[in-house]
Amino acid sequence: MLLEVQDLVVHYKIKTGWVHATDGVSIQLDKGETLGLVGESACGKTTLAYGISQLLPSNAYIKGGRVIFDGKNLLKMTMKKDGRLKEYDNELNKIRWKEISMIFQGAMNALNPVQRVGDQIAEAILFHERVTKQQARQRAEQLYNLVGIPVDRIDHFPHEYSGGMKQRAMIAMALALNPKLVIADEPTTALDVITQNKILTKVRELQDRLEMAMIIITHDVSVVAKTAKRIAVMYAGQISETGTTREIFKETAHPYTSGLLGSFPSIKGKVRRLATIKGNPPSLVEPPTGCRFHPRCPYVQDICKTQNPPGLTMSPGHISFCHFAKDLQGKLSPEVFI
Ligand code: ATP
Ligand code: SF4
Repeated sequence: MLLEVQDLVVHYKIKTGWVHATDGVSIQLDKGETLGLVGESACGKTTLAYGISQLLPSNAYIKGGRVIFDGKNLLKMTMKKDGRLKEYDNELNKIRWKEISMIFQGAMNALNPVQRVGDQIAEAILFHERVTKQQARQRAEQLYNLVGIPVDRIDHFPHEYSGGMKQRAMIAMALALNPKLVIADEPTTALDVITQNKILTKVRELQDRLEMAMIIITHDVSVVAKTAKRIAVMYAGQISETGTTREIFKETAHPYTSGLLGSFPSIKGKVRRLATIKGNPPSLVEPPTGCRFHPRCPYVQDICKTQNPPGLTMSPGHISFCHFAKDLQGKLSPEVFI
């Protein structure tokens, strides 16, 4: 096992109280595996990613849980007694980027506009590894080949790149140190579908070649369908369903997953009306009692309003946090959301 997140609780302190951004989230990842993390905006996906890479902002408090990466308990290394992260941790800094790297949301804009792109990649390598400038440059060139940017563009500035090229350059940067885990937060949302497909295909090839594990975070289920072997669906700070990509798509066992899948057009399937899950995701300052999805769930029953559903195992590794998962599996239809 490369990564094990157990019952991670991260809350943000704000003027009016606490935002319960992740409340007892557990995920696991093997070496070389890809996990898709999906859910609507503001359900806690980025908080989970930052909780793993320990990049949480200063008003975040880790109230519980463990993050074990490659046998090391990261939280033990970096957490102060009050649950906040230390501002700087030398040990963790070695792990970050070298072993766990991130492709951030809107990463294309993260390139320094006044520095040549190739130099930015070489600099990241020089910062972490004992190599000469020439070796770092050679590695940057190899990475350009890997992500499919012509090497003669290496000395250009970011404004001379298209959006897709900038995104590829950021992927090259994330891969520069051969990390064991890459966390990609909405890596392709800003791109058109054709460029998005090209990049996702490239990422998959690279992953096989480099044996990296990957967490792809997105609200777009078609992205994870193409890239992930397993999926964790998040709703309002918690995992609602987790399983293989096939199980999530074909043996759906949670009403929220069903609504989410129905709200995206199928590229291959027949044309159908799209579902919309009525209402908005709840406030995480005072999340709903019981099942957090109950105010929006067409299948809601009384018990849902008061009791938090336990994880029901549908088959080994396929777990649904719905009281009625066993009854509903096979009968769920996105049509009820239309
Ligand atoms: P998106 O897809 O929009 O990025 P997300 O699923 O990644 O959303 P998060 O960004 O993790 O969700 O946010 C979870 C909740 O925490 C949201 O209610 C968000 O407003 C809140 N939040 C995020 N960062 C902070 C912060 N620094 N202080 C207070 N609240 C925050
Ligand atoms: Fe819907 Fe109840 Fe299942 Fe929650 S527990 S998803 S409210 S049926």
